[in-house]
Amino acid sequence: MNICSPYLEINLPAIYHNAKVIVEKGKEQGILIDGVTKVSLGDPKIARVLVKAGVFGISDSRIESIKRMKEDGLDTQFTLIRLPCLSQVEEEIKYADVSLNSEFITLKALNEAGERLKKKHKVIIMVEMGDIREGIWNKEELYFVIGEVLKMENLELWGIGTNFTCFGGVIPTEEKYISFLEIVRDLEKRFNISFPMVSGGNSSSISLLFEGKIPSGINHLRIGEGIMLGRETSYRKPVLGARTDTFKFVGEILEIKEKPSIPWGIIGEDAFGHKPSFKVRGIRKRALLNFGRQDIDPEGLIPETFGIEILGATSDYTVVDISENDSLKVGDSISFSLNYSALLQAFTSPFVKKIYKEVDL
Ligand SMILES: *Cc1c(COP(=O)(O)O)cnc(C)c1O
Repeated sequence: MNICSPYLEINLPAIYHNAKVIVEKGKEQGILIDGVTKVSLGDPKIARVLVKAGVFGISDSRIESIKRMKEDGLDTQFTLIRLPCLSQVEEEIKYADVSLNSEFITLKALNEAGERLKKKHKVIIMVEMGDIREGIWNKEELYFVIGEVLKMENLELWGIGTNFTCFGGVIPTEEKYISFLEIVRDLEKRFNISFPMVSGGNSSSISLLFEGKIPSGINHLRIGEGIMLGRETSYRKPVLGARTDTFKFVGEILEIKEKPSIPWGIIGEDAFGHKPSFKVRGIRKRALLNFGRQDIDPEGLIPETFGIEILGATSDYTVVDISENDSLKVGDSISFSLNYSALLQAFTSPFVKKIYKEVDL
């Protein structure tokens, strides 16, 4: 089969397997797993596989992606995991069943939109535990926001949540979770309530999950990368029993020439405003591939084809050294595995075709 490249091969059986491994591990400990589809822009085929594997719901960062999955007919609980936009509250109420929140003004607008649309919406209030991204840090503000949400007729206080290892790189430890749970218990006592959902972190909590060390009281995690790439993100280790062959990126050789390894002439900046630097290696055999920064993050590709070294990329070309591989010719396909950043870029690029390895469920 001749598929026009570049393309991203999506291995649905492998994704299904990974989701199942993590969902089962959660089940043993009373922890529900939401499958996070944001890296795939809410790909409905992937979402469907996650639902079949038993995830509690689907979480995505964009309301457009949630809309896409809903319009494709997927029936599950959808959570918007980026804070809602004040300018989009109606769409958010319409398409998301749950959202993560930290601002009173937005909660108020969501409540009013719920009134207009005659729809009840569930909210999870986010607590800042040190990663310095989203969430309320100040205790008085937390009391105020919870107290107000309890009075809002179109919002249901569905839970309390926190996030780690996204901006600050803070690793979730047992101690972090215990401090988080102290805040949760304090709120429950103060307002005489019980949160249905106590939502911990993301794929950086997988190693704690597999060691059985997530303190009881946390009953929900939101997992993207762990399922999609079979890796936890605190230490970047493969998830036990998971597959890492979930995605493959394939491009094609456009030019092969022997060229000096350093440029000649007066050196200014490259196309992206960086001063390039090169290793002196004499004349090398190099190939130009048919994709670039519009399609991938060159730092996030790992060649699967033997004897290939990535030198860099411009918008539309990736330059590789192929001196160690004698068999390559113009038109040959070159395949790579991807890290999260390259995968995100590949999904985002309209130039990268998406090819599915189907799963029979
Ligand atoms: C992206 C995200 C997740 C999932 O993160 P992974 O590392 O891909 O598991 C979970 N929660 C929030 C709030 C997120 O933004």
